[in-house]
Order: sequence, then structure tokens, then C-alpha cells
Amino acid sequence: MTNLPRAAVIGNPISHSLSPKLHSYWLNRYGLDGEYTAIKVTEDALESTLRDLPKQGFIGANVTIPHKVSVMQFADQITDRATLIGAANTLIFKEDGRIFADNTDGYGFMANLRQSAPDWDPKAGPAAIFGAGGAARAIIVALADAGVPEIIISNRTRPKAEALRADFGARVTVMDWVQADKMLEDANTVINTTSLGMVGGQEFKVSLDSLRPEAVVTDIVYNPLRTPFLEAAQEKGCTTVDGLGMLLHQGVPGFERWFGQRPEVDEATRRAVLE
Ligand code: NAP
Repeated sequence: MTNLPRAAVIGNPISHSLSPKLHSYWLNRYGLDGEYTAIKVTEDALESTLRDLPKQGFIGANVTIPHKVSVMQFADQITDRATLIGAANTLIFKEDGRIFADNTDGYGFMANLRQSAPDWDPKAGPAAIFGAGGAARAIIVALADAGVPEIIISNRTRPKAEALRADFGARVTVMDWVQADKMLEDANTVINTTSLGMVGGQEFKVSLDSLRPEAVVTDIVYNPLRTPFLEAAQEKGCTTVDGLGMLLHQGVPGFERWFGQRPEVDEATRRAVLE
């Protein structure tokens, strides 16, 4: 067993994860002792892995699909934002084996938006969100926190969007998927949180004709970096923000807690994970 502080990303599948590249780059950049690996963990093995990792010298972990919700039941302490979102993506293992769970997806989303579109004003108008999955939950919490006055959600499976309205209250309204383009008429912020547009996946087909050129448009899909959704928004004159920065920024709080250094997200960081 190594004595280096160790962290990992756990999920299934896991080979596609960019987190090992990101954290290894930061460890190297700041000259820190440490190790960050990817570990494939099946649902059946989740609890035993979480109990075992601290014994092997792991001080924490990132959590990805499909464990973000199920890890919550094994946590001894959960941050308010993770409780509100109902999922965790960052774990800290205490010396006595207790597990502290946080969710940094909303933080990562917001830090990326603020860094990439510094003139973005959350209070300037409604936000329109395509999708109502796990990432959408984290983003709604972050947008509400930032003071966005109205959040309109449209999801293929409408009851999931209705459930978000029930959880997050009056500021959230729901629009039918067949009318999703109507959300764009007044939207100041537009976000794709569906998996549509991902390499090898289905196309994003909702018309973006009603986009206002003043809108800031972001896609959390980052493979490809320039999705057809972002390309269409750029053609309308909108400021566009890709999803890679969200992934990079969501890693910041975990890295800082585990390795004691707050890392920068900059062009060099982007290049390092894209290599
Ligand atoms: P999820 O919980 O599985 O939600 C998937 C969402 O996509 C749902 O709203 C789903 O609608 C919608 N969707 C899937 N196929 C669709 C289709 N054919 N037509 C219309 N809608 C469709 O996943 P998630 O965790 O929220 O992640 C969503 C995407 O964001 C993934 O591509 C993921 O890689 C990416 N992501 C990126 C970051 C980042 O850091 N940049 C972070 C988290 C996630 P239904 O409810 O109708 O199924």
C-alpha cells in the first residue's frame, strides 16, 4: 500500500472519465504528493468499496454515473446543497472511516458560467432548461441561489420536470417538450442538460429560432466541445459556453479538501485534459 494521499473517481462505466487526467495534472502542476485513479464499481459492490477505500489510504472520491444518488445512503454527513439536490459527487473520508458527502456540480456549472461569460447577469431574466435529470437538479439549485428570477424547464418525460417544480417551488415553471422552443422567447440564460448532442447519441432537434441574441447559452455536454446546440446559438449571435469548464470546476472543491491546494481552472487545465 502506498503512503501517498489517494483519491479516485468511482462509477460504471469509468474508462471515459476525464477526472484522473484533471487531478493528476493538478497534482503535478502544484508539485503535490498524491495519486488519483479511476475505479470501476458496480452497484452491488458500492457499499463494500466505500468501506474499503479509507482502509486502503484513500482520503476521498468523486462519484459519477450511476452512483450519485445511491452513495447518499452511506454518508454520515451530507452538505445542505447535496441534500437539496438529492445526490453527491464528492466524498471525503474521515480518519475514523466516516463519509462526508457534497455535491459540487451546481458550483462547477456556476463557476464555469461566470468565468466564461463574465457579463452574464443572473437577475436579467428567466433561465430555460432542457432536461430534468440529475444534472438539471444541481443546476436549478445553483441558478436559484444566484438569484435567477424564473426557471422554465422542459423535459421529454414531463412528470420528471413536474417533480422538480414540486421540489423547488414557485420560481420553477414547466413547459411541454413539444413546445420547448417557446421557453426561449424571453430567456436570458439557456441550458441544455439533456444528453442530446453527445457523440454517438441522438441529435438535439428542438428549434432554437426563438433564441434572443442577448441570451447566454450553455451546453453541459462536452463531447464534442462545440455541440450543434452551441453552434446554432452562436449563429443567432448568443454568447456560448461549453460544458468542459463545468467538469473542471466541479473538481476544484474536492481537490482542495483532499490535497490542500485550491487549483486553478485555466486554458492550461483545459489543454491538459483534452490531450
Ligand atoms: P440523467 O439524469 O440520465 O438525465 C438525462 C436527461 O436527458 C433527461 O432529462 C432525459 O430525459 C434527457 N434525454 C435523454 N435522451 C433523450 C432524448 N432522446 N430526447 C429527449 N431527452 C432526452 O443524466 P444527467 O446526469 O442529468 O446528465 C445529462 C448529461 O449531462 C449527460 O450527457 C452528462 O454526460 C452531462 N453532464 C455533464 C457534466 C459536466 O460537468 N459538464 C456534469 C453532469 C452531467 P427523460 O427524463 O425524458 O429521459
